[in-house]
Amino acid sequence: MSRCSLSEWSVGTGREPYIRVGVVLPPDGNERMRADLPDRPYELHVNGTRAGRIAAGAAELRVDGNQVALTDSSGAKHRGTAIRLVPVETAQPVQGSGVRLHDVLTGRGFHWQKRVSFSLEGTLEFRAYEGRLLGINELGLEDYLQGVITAEMSGLCPVEFLKTQCVVARSWVLAHTEQKHTEWPIDRCNDDCCQRYHGTSYLTPRATEAVLATRGQAVVDSAGHIIDANYSKNCGGIIEAPEHVWFTSKTGQRAAVDAPAGSTARRFMPISDANFDEFLTGAWLESTDVFCSPAVVPDCDLPRYLGSVDEGGGHFRWCVEYTREQLEALLRRKLAHVFAEAGESSGPADEPILVADLPPRVMDVRVPMLVKLVDLRLRQRGPSGRASEMDIEYLDGAGRTHRIVVRSEYRIREALHDKFLFSSAFKVQMDRDEAGLPSRIRLVGAGWGHGAGLCQIGALGMALKGYACRDIVRHYFEGVDLRALY
Ligand SMILES: [Zn+2]
Ligand SMILES: [Zn+2]
Repeated sequence: MSRCSLSEWSVGTGREPYIRVGVVLPPDGNERMRADLPDRPYELHVNGTRAGRIAAGAAELRVDGNQVALTDSSGAKHRGTAIRLVPVETAQPVQGSGVRLHDVLTGRGFHWQKRVSFSLEGTLEFRAYEGRLLGINELGLEDYLQGVITAEMSGLCPVEFLKTQCVVARSWVLAHTEQKHTEWPIDRCNDDCCQRYHGTSYLTPRATEAVLATRGQAVVDSAGHIIDANYSKNCGGIIEAPEHVWFTSKTGQRAAVDAPAGSTARRFMPISDANFDEFLTGAWLESTDVFCSPAVVPDCDLPRYLGSVDEGGGHFRWCVEYTREQLEALLRRKLAHVFAEAGESSGPADEPILVADLPPRVMDVRVPMLVKLVDLRLRQRGPSGRASEMDIEYLDGAGRTHRIVVRSEYRIREALHDKFLFSSAFKVQMDRDEAGLPSRIRLVGAGWGHGAGLCQIGALGMALKGYACRDIVRHYFEGVDLRALY
C-alpha cells in the first residue's frame, strides 16, 4: 500500500499517515552534529537517490554552504541538499532503538531548555538552511505517538492516563489546525511549541501498550469531526475557556471545574475578586478533591510521572518573587522592542500603548524607557483566573508616568519571567518603600500552562483514582466520543 503523508491525510483515508517531525530546527544553531547509527542496516539517500549502505557507528553531519556533508564511521564522505538515513527494515520501537542524535535543543525558550541526546526510530533527513542544520525524523504516526506520550509525561504513568494522552495527542495532530512551521518541510516540531517528542529515548512497555490499545482512535464531536484537542500541564483547578486563551471558541472545549461532580471546589467557578485569594491560598487546598491538586497527585510522586525534561512539582500553586530592580531589568529586556533608545523619537507620553497581541503586533510606536516600576495590574480574567491583560505603570528618566498594556496570557507569561512564567492566573502582592514605589513584588499563582482542554496532571489524578481513558476524555471535553479512524 502506498504511503500517505500527514498533509494528504483526511478522515476518509482510512490508514495511518506518516509524519515529518522537525527535531533540529535552524534557529537552534547546529552547524554540525553527531549521529550514532545502530548495528543494523541503514541505507543512505542523497538528493532522493540511493547511495548504498552506510556504516554503523558515529557519523558526522555538518553544513557545507547550502548542502549537508556527511562522514560515516568508515570515513566515507557524502554531500547533498537532502541527506537521508533510511532503515532497511522497519523495527518495533523499544527504548533507545534507532539512531542516537546528539546536541538536540529541547524546551526551546521555556524553563526547561537544554541540550540532550535522543534516539530516533524511522528515517532521518538533514538539510541546510542559512548555515544551520534542519533535522527531520520521518515515521509512522503510531510510532511517533509512542515518543510523544513518553516525552509529555513519563512512560511510568498509569496506562489509562497514557491512553488518554495518546488519543488527545493523536487528535491534535490529525485535526491539522495548527501549522506553525510552514517555512520548512516538516509537519510538526518536536517541542512544546507543537507536541514534545523525544523518539524512543524514554519508551516503556506500558506506553507501547497504551498506543497499541488505542490505535487510530481520535476524539470526535457528534458530527464525527476530529476536535482540536489542546492540553496543558496543570489547569490550577478550573479548566480555562478557549476563547480566553486564543480569542476563539473550539468545539468540545469549555470552562469547567477539574473535580468530581459534587466537589466543593465548584464554588470557585468562575474566579472573581471576591474568591481569588481563597482560591489561591485557602485552607481548602489541603483536602480538596481537585484532580490536579497535590491532595490527589502528591508532589512527592510527581518526579516519576513527569516528563524527563520537567523539573520540580506540578505547580498547582506557586510563588515567584522579585525585587523592584530585578523586575525592572527583566521588563526592560523582555519588552525591549517597545522602549525607545535615548534620543530616539517616541510616541505620545499620555496614551497607554498596546505591547503585544495574538498574533504579535508590529510596533510602530515606541515609549520612553522604563526607569522605575510603579505598578502591575492584571485584568480580563477568564473563568480559571488567568488574566489576558496586564497594565504596567512606570516612570521614565524625567519622572513622567507611562502605561503599557500587555495582551494575551502568553505575552504576560513571557514578559514576567526570565524564561516563561507558569501561568497568568496570579495575584500581585507588593511591599512599597517610603516613596511609594514597590520594593518587593510577589506573584502568587495557580496552574502551569494555558489551562484549556485536557489538564495533564488532572488526567493523571483521574487515572490514579481509577477512571478509564474514555471517562477522562469526556471530563475534559464536552459532547465528544472516541472513534477509530484507521
Ligand atoms: Zn512547533
Ligand atoms: Zn486541572
